Amino acid sequence: MAKLHLLSLDLRALEDALADLVANLGEPRFRARQIQEWIFRHLAGGETAFRQMTNLPKKLIEKLEESAEISVLQVKLRQDSIDGTRKWAFETHDGHVFETVMIPSENRRSICVSSQVGCAMGCTFCRTATMGFIRNLTLGEILEQVHFVSRFLREEDGSRLSNVIFMGMGEPLHNLENVAAACGVLNAEDGFGIGKSHITVSTSGVVPKIREWAERAPDFKLAISLNGSNDAMRSSLMPVNRRWNIENLLAAADEYIHLTGQKLTFEYILIQGKTCTPEAARELRRIASQRNCKINLIPLNRGEDPALQPPSEEEIRAFEAVLRQGDFEVLRRRPRGPDILAACGQLAIPLKKVA
Ligand code: SAH
Ligand code: SF4
Repeated sequence: MAKLHLLSLDLRALEDALADLVANLGEPRFRARQIQEWIFRHLAGGETAFRQMTNLPKKLIEKLEESAEISVLQVKLRQDSIDGTRKWAFETHDGHVFETVMIPSENRRSICVSSQVGCAMGCTFCRTATMGFIRNLTLGEILEQVHFVSRFLREEDGSRLSNVIFMGMGEPLHNLENVAAACGVLNAEDGFGIGKSHITVSTSGVVPKIREWAERAPDFKLAISLNGSNDAMRSSLMPVNRRWNIENLLAAADEYIHLTGQKLTFEYILIQGKTCTPEAARELRRIASQRNCKINLIPLNRGEDPALQPPSEEEIRAFEAVLRQGDFEVLRRRPRGPDILAACGQLAIPLKKVA
């Protein structure tokens, strides 16, 4: 019989499953609570995990080992950037590999989580697109990335994860159920206890799902990858724009802002001679001026296509100067971990499937 993957259950289902298990063994219900707390405080992974719960009776540990598992991912590789960013490649039980990144800054530790193996969206500037779509990650596989990196930080320097961004591989809103459930566990007091405003989901602009997300998870942060200031430009970079153009996307964005009362982030990639021109800056300023939003500029990290190059520092400054005439916040995202291909748009696993 397949083992129950404890991290694939949301907190209530986990509580119920553990309660059943301990009841069947004639153990008191508080044991379920002990196991659940233990998972969030000490997740050790690997086969010995349950055995390390030394405050449990031996009989219960044996039963847990027989019927359940905590960890389903295997670490294939860790890479360390000179700027302190780390990247891990994880292998799933069915032989697929995906990546997770930890980004340290002075007062933050952020994890960039993957929601899918590969991605179906085909954005021309993104290496993940070259993998195509392989499959959605389960709730447990999403949460295990966070457990793993939390444990890594605790062991490395005693620090704690402060932020979670769904900006690794994949389109999170194509895996909405699991991403929403993961956000719930990340935020819950008896889960990871990370504040909702410290959890951000980034979408390439799957319009109907933005509405659904606003209803399902209104208090988390949403970022939309706008990346082009007009339809011709955006469609040439992002196939999704041919399905839902900028007008449709902005209508969904406005509805999101209205429904949730939140400020929205538009991510905007800067590509020399394409998205980073004075005309594009004026178009973007017009878009941003009309709504409660901020702009996050991301200079292109070079990928496979030699026709796409990042702009010079002068070009970026000129672009920013036009935007700063608007009444919205403008931030520039510095590349983190480019030397280990951990920066935005650089995650990709060339091998499709092991064995
Ligand atoms: N799939 C989601 C989230 C992951 S990508 C999305 O597309 O929104 C996170 C951000 O990196 C997105 O805004 C995306 O547009 C940007 N990005 C992708 N490839 C990039 C590259 N080569 N250089 C800079 N930013 C890139
Ligand atoms: Fe997928 Fe985002 Fe990359 Fe586009 S930018 S291919 S949506 S991961």
